[in-house]
Amino acid sequence: MTLQIQFKKYELPPLPYKVDALEPYISKDIIDVHYNGHHKGYVNGANSLLERLEKVVKGDLQAGHYDIQGIVRGLTFNINGHKLHALYWENMAPNGKGGGKPGGALADLINKQYGSFDRFKQVFTETANSLPGTGWAVLYYDTESSNLQIMTFENHFMNHIAEIPIILILDEFEHAYYLQYKNKRADYVNAWWNVVNWDAAEKKLQKYLTK
Ligand code: FE
Repeated sequence: MTLQIQFKKYELPPLPYKVDALEPYISKDIIDVHYNGHHKGYVNGANSLLERLEKVVKGDLQAGHYDIQGIVRGLTFNINGHKLHALYWENMAPNGKGGGKPGGALADLINKQYGSFDRFKQVFTETANSLPGTGWAVLYYDTESSNLQIMTFENHFMNHIAEIPIILILDEFEHAYYLQYKNKRADYVNAWWNVVNWDAAEKKLQKYLTK
């Protein structure tokens, strides 16, 4: 009997704005390559590895003719890459609508834990600037402690990290800034605050608060 196994494939979500909508803080060329090249590459990479995994599960590939560790490691890298980028696009706002300060429950939590938005911004910026090499700076809501937490993801293939309650995420791979900021990553981090979509961050937090 032939096994009918098919994994549902991933889809590239639409970019929520035009490629030039984050200028001058993040250039059109960066967003174009980042979305149409890198993010699309993660989706395609995940789907081709899923097809390979289907063959393994069905027994179409004989042991010794595939590298299961390579497949799973590649899936982790590509699925996380896809999910984290989808969050990254969502938490930026187009055409000058980003930046400023959060309101609502997010502002209350930030003030309670950090004293002020400026202090929070300073700590998040320091965290982002401390990341060695490649990865992400992340603000997430810890549903166990009801605290906001700031952390970094070094790379994104070490383990499955994409389903934690992420409120805000900053891509710090070189492809996210190098075309415009070269090796001045801290300048990109500073510029990014001008495009943060605080309404989207608040919506994410509300989703986790009501769970
Ligand atoms: Fe990226």
